[in-house]
Amino acid sequence: MPQNPFFITTAIAYVNGQPHLGHAYEEIATDVIARHMRQRGRDVFFLTGTDEHGEPVADAAHAQGIEPQQLADANAARFQALLPQLNVSNDFFIRTTDEQHALRVQQVLQRVYDNGHVYKGTYEGWYCPRCADFKVENEILEGNRCPIHEIHLTREQEENWFFRLSTFQEALETLFETHPDFVLPSRALNEAQAFIGQGLQDVSLSRAKLTWGVKVPWDPGHVFYVWFDALLNYYTALGYARPGEDLTDRYWPAQLHVIGKDILKFHTIFWPAMLMAADLPVPGHVFVHGFLLAADGRKMSKSLGNVLDPFEALELYGVDALRFYLMREVVFGQDGGVGMDGLGNRYTSELANEYGNLASRTLAMIHRYRDGFVPTVATDPVLVAEFDGLHDRVAAAFDVFDPSTALGEIWEKVRRLNRYVEERAPWQLAKDPSAAAELDQVLGSLHEGLRVVSILLAPYIPESVAKLLEALGTPDSSFTNAGFSATGPLAGGATVSQLPPLFPRLLS
Ligand SMILES: [Zn+2]
Repeated sequence: MPQNPFFITTAIAYVNGQPHLGHAYEEIATDVIARHMRQRGRDVFFLTGTDEHGEPVADAAHAQGIEPQQLADANAARFQALLPQLNVSNDFFIRTTDEQHALRVQQVLQRVYDNGHVYKGTYEGWYCPRCADFKVENEILEGNRCPIHEIHLTREQEENWFFRLSTFQEALETLFETHPDFVLPSRALNEAQAFIGQGLQDVSLSRAKLTWGVKVPWDPGHVFYVWFDALLNYYTALGYARPGEDLTDRYWPAQLHVIGKDILKFHTIFWPAMLMAADLPVPGHVFVHGFLLAADGRKMSKSLGNVLDPFEALELYGVDALRFYLMREVVFGQDGGVGMDGLGNRYTSELANEYGNLASRTLAMIHRYRDGFVPTVATDPVLVAEFDGLHDRVAAAFDVFDPSTALGEIWEKVRRLNRYVEERAPWQLAKDPSAAAELDQVLGSLHEGLRVVSILLAPYIPESVAKLLEALGTPDSSFTNAGFSATGPLAGGATVSQLPPLFPRLLS
């Protein structure tokens, strides 16, 4: 059995809408982490999918005169189609309407019931149909409005099954104290702790009024409240993602759930409590990313004309540019402003003028001055010293799920290599036959530096890096090769090939 499992998930997208930039962002960020861990030889399983049950889907379907399953099928297909466009390397796409998912949800929640964590009661409260959630008094906005959707809440009462969340108060406090990195970043942990600090109330586990959901096995007149059904996707998927194989023992508990801050309560409180109630181990970490805002700091809206449309961005700049821009512009874990202008600027100033240009001129000079052969001489000790520890720092940043810091470190070295070209001016050295050895060292060092930054950039811009490493004559992008070699370029003696510009200048 492979060692070192790394099970990573996105939240699953609610099918009552269309894929938008927020989805793309979460998929890309999760994919960057998954790809990095694969480079390091971790046994990665990357899960994403769609959340398809609940009142909002049923209501939207009925408003269109179709069945909920039809609506779910149509919208799930749109979310699924987005992933290859973003170059997302997920291992499975779960849909909560999968039959095997429903069966496993019933098994787990039956265990929760058998363990005595469920009782029948009457619930009355303020309910947001868009969240599919009752709101507790202190989170409700003035005028009984949803804190997330700002729409009016409705007063609802129904008999349903309750989960004894209140009895997990102490267990959750202990979890947060003994594993302070269970919720990341720390601001999100503070929020989770503040929530349990108010005292936990029991929560509805089932809905009696609804039929669009997973049936409660001990009371088939009820369906499970959509949140419990949805959260369980992370666990159920392992049971059937690979036909004929149960991956649960290999991958559970998950290492990392990547989620948005609007669903923090469910993932940091309900989810670990439910797992404990089912005698299942809790995941390693929940990382809560921020929201993407318009460049002016306001909410994106079509009427304000400040929307970054991922499909338009992909068409204009390509997948690597969009991936790079979102990871470069927004600190992972914080809110950040993004826009088409910013994307265009970074595309030109960083991807084309810095990385792309470094790649073109390195390849061109090795061609022109050394017939395409990578010199085999020792690399420049100045660069050896400056690159020392880079790959360890990048790995350390990823170990705390900080792709922003890692990218900053790598990019400093991209800039350093461009300065190195200017400082050493290989075109001058080439005119002087007595400087041949020096020119060998400069070209070999540039090749080596470019190879190293490219391996480290592979999770962010996989398509471009694959092409470039191939052209550099050193296609292996595994992390064990990410150190800067002092004895000579790793690909010394290999031949480089020419490459059209990775990030061609665009006509505006
Ligand atoms: Zn709401």
